[in-house]
Amino acid sequence: MITQTTLAALDAADPLAHCRERFHLPDGVLYFDGNSLGPLPRGVPARMKTVVEEQWGEGLIRSWNTAGWMDLPARVGGRIASLVGAEPGSIISADSTSVNLFKLVCAALALNPGRPEILSDSGNFPTDLYVASGAAQIIGRDHRLKVVEPQDVAEAIGPSTAVVMLTHVDYRTGQMHDMEAITARAHAAGAIVIWDLAHSTGAMPVDLAGCKVDLAVGCSYKYLNGGPGAPAWLYVAPRHQAAVHSPLTGWLGHAAPFAFDLGYRPADGIARFICGTPNILSLAALDASLDAFDGVDMRLVRAKSIRLGDLFIGLVEQELGAAGFGLGSPRDGTARGSQVSLTHPQGYAIMQALISRGVIGDFRAPDVLRFGFCPLYARFSDLWGLVGHLREIMATEEWNQEMFLRRARVT
Ligand SMILES: *Cc1c(COP(=O)(O)O)cnc(C)c1O
Repeated sequence: MITQTTLAALDAADPLAHCRERFHLPDGVLYFDGNSLGPLPRGVPARMKTVVEEQWGEGLIRSWNTAGWMDLPARVGGRIASLVGAEPGSIISADSTSVNLFKLVCAALALNPGRPEILSDSGNFPTDLYVASGAAQIIGRDHRLKVVEPQDVAEAIGPSTAVVMLTHVDYRTGQMHDMEAITARAHAAGAIVIWDLAHSTGAMPVDLAGCKVDLAVGCSYKYLNGGPGAPAWLYVAPRHQAAVHSPLTGWLGHAAPFAFDLGYRPADGIARFICGTPNILSLAALDASLDAFDGVDMRLVRAKSIRLGDLFIGLVEQELGAAGFGLGSPRDGTARGSQVSLTHPQGYAIMQALISRGVIGDFRAPDVLRFGFCPLYARFSDLWGLVGHLREIMATEEWNQEMFLRRARVT
């Protein structure tokens, strides 16, 4: 039996409890959607004020040099590297996840000429699949995207596989791939791997170097809390950096942008994957948001995340047994990312009813109610509130109203 007392005791003993202070969380809101848009870290507004009013307002163009604007993609990349076990100088922050994936898919196909296939799975986020098939078409020859079921990936890697491109944590189910095992399997078959860490970065320890990953991308507005549309990031293992090329050969990836040469020469190292002018306002917000991870042991984050998910599943079974919810995520916490999905035929309307009560998760077609648990600010006792609201909404059929049944543009 899970009680309010159990949960309060866990909060009192939580070694990450002090991190909640690092975020602005609106009164009256229980937030379970940090896996889609992280909340506002407290240090961001002051940083934005400085960047806008002092650096831009007063410094004007001088700030490219005097305020370190040019260094931001690598500086922020270096901070992200420490969260994902990447070598120094192997990550830059730039562009969107989709654009970075395009750069890396093209780069990876060129690293592995003669093999036609990009292998991915049907649990991948659609943009990843769209981008890969777009890249395959542009490169031409007989390149193609092959999509298999998530559990069949390892088996499907073979002599025609050029690139295995996967998202580590399935956005819908939270099911996690074994990054180390699949990477090893791909390498044994002569393939390159690209991991998308959109739902892993900031949610759990990741060991890109230890898993010998070749290439990776990740998102910064989810568990990194970098703000809406925050610049994403891109990783190239040091052993590949001299041989891989970005297909987006913009001037800021040039060896000497301010020489204004007519011919393109790639910068050394990861910098060649920068394309155009960095988004300074967004990068500065992301840089400030990363302060929320200062001194945080990612192993504690993972342990709390698993505990939150397990307790949520336990409470749903205890309190909502007859409400018709299915479990859309692995029950085994070690096989799950930092989210738990419930399924219900009326999932959309139920989620809208929850949101109208200030309890925010999200919905993913066709029937998934998704709840992200972000250990830096989630409290164990928040689970009591979440399940209590769900119980009331189901018992009274509060969800069954026109305003909750009508679909909005962003779900
Ligand atoms: C969130 C997410 C993206 C987002 O891509 P954008 O280019 O930032 O819109 C991409 N891939 C995965 C797996 C995601 O979860």
